[in-house]
Amino acid sequence: MITKADEIRHPTEGNLPCAVLQYADDTLFVFRAETSAAIKLKEILDQFAAASGLHINFSKSTLVPIHADARLVQQCVQVLGCSEGSFPQQYLGLPLSANKLPVSTFNIYIHKTDKFLASWQADLLNPMGRLVLVNSVLDSILVYLMSSLQLPATAVHSMDKKRRAFLWSGDKAGIASPANCLVAWTSVCSPRECGGLGVRDSGVQNICLLLKLLHRLHCPQSSAWAEWVQRRASISTLTGELHGDHWQTLRSIIPLYQAITTVQVGDGKCTSFWYDVWNDSDEALADRFLALLSHCSSKHATLWEIKSSGLQSALVPRLSTAAEIERQLVLQVIEETGLSETHDKRISPFIRPDNSLDSGALYKMIKARGQGDSPRATFVWQNPAPPRVQLFLWLLTQRRIQCRSVLRKKGIVDSASCEVCSAADETPEHIIHGCALGRDVWASLNLQSIVSVDMGELHSFQGHPSNLISELPSFLALVCWNI
Ligand SMILES: [Zn+2]
Repeated sequence: MITKADEIRHPTEGNLPCAVLQYADDTLFVFRAETSAAIKLKEILDQFAAASGLHINFSKSTLVPIHADARLVQQCVQVLGCSEGSFPQQYLGLPLSANKLPVSTFNIYIHKTDKFLASWQADLLNPMGRLVLVNSVLDSILVYLMSSLQLPATAVHSMDKKRRAFLWSGDKAGIASPANCLVAWTSVCSPRECGGLGVRDSGVQNICLLLKLLHRLHCPQSSAWAEWVQRRASISTLTGELHGDHWQTLRSIIPLYQAITTVQVGDGKCTSFWYDVWNDSDEALADRFLALLSHCSSKHATLWEIKSSGLQSALVPRLSTAAEIERQLVLQVIEETGLSETHDKRISPFIRPDNSLDSGALYKMIKARGQGDSPRATFVWQNPAPPRVQLFLWLLTQRRIQCRSVLRKKGIVDSASCEVCSAADETPEHIIHGCALGRDVWASLNLQSIVSVDMGELHSFQGHPSNLISELPSFLALVCWNI
């Protein structure tokens, strides 16, 4: 009834009905600010209430104006009997606004972590237990939000501060002293295979999740939202009737999307002529024909546009010799490429069979940056020792256990001298095999040769050939842990 009422009009398109969005118990009407529309809407809602017996509580509803005259808004508020609201508004768990979101908008999402932290007996957990909670619960709190919006750097920083404090000291208020934070946060956020602790890097995770949005735009009929965008803008550049920070963010990650996908050419309308990989090659034309690209006046043209208007129309006159040679090659590529009526299709190792983008695999690839597994990481994380021993081993092999030499570097103690023997500085090596206790333990195990081993090289220690120990890595881990 509301969408059929002539008085209630679409805010921008006069010939379209107003937008009605319903999800669970929320209903959103988006219509042009007119008193006649408010009167008609109230009339229809009252009729609905009378017919269904469902009472509509107008005092719980809000009218949020967008670029509307204040007097007109007051009239509409009086007619509807609701209150006037302002942006940002919460809808489906996300902040909704006509303007740039202030940083304070994100505070409520970050404070959600407090609720979880308060319910955990963090003091009773060892750091490895807290690591599991940081990874499995705290990380997922913001995933929904990060799948839709880019978090401001300050919000990411606040969240990291809470996670860091909880991980190292079990502090629920987000405060950790430098003495507690044993390893730099950037190392903590590296994958375990690369020597890190595998805590999620929120900034990178945010970008990977937003790439799913970009991928959805490249899939025809994937959603009403994607179709709406396709009608208003060029998908390959997101230029057109799209304004605001959100679109600017999506535009900024287009190069990454182009780098991880190749195009199976259809009509060429969603394919960037220069920057997408599309012609059975493993390189974009922009990488292969640099001289010609420098003479191009429309670098973001689509393949369809170049095929329709010709390459010449996109070039500035007087090509250099190198550019002329490249032009002949590019013309040949264009000649050999035929377009069809079907949509361009994206192919990528990160696209699942159901055509969704695997942001988890993408995250791993970005964080690993082509590094192979380090032998030290294999020694630590594939060690059959219990998880809390693995974490100790991770700290020990980085020489970051709580010892006096580390504390002196942080300015927490004045002297690094060993409190047991006073004969040397208390370094990780001194504790493990330099001081009397450690020396005796290794001597009784006939593994004295460990005394020359730096803790960063513990993974390469082979033991004594005459004293072969099966499961040496877990044996070393448990002995070091007990020392
Ligand atoms: Zn000592």
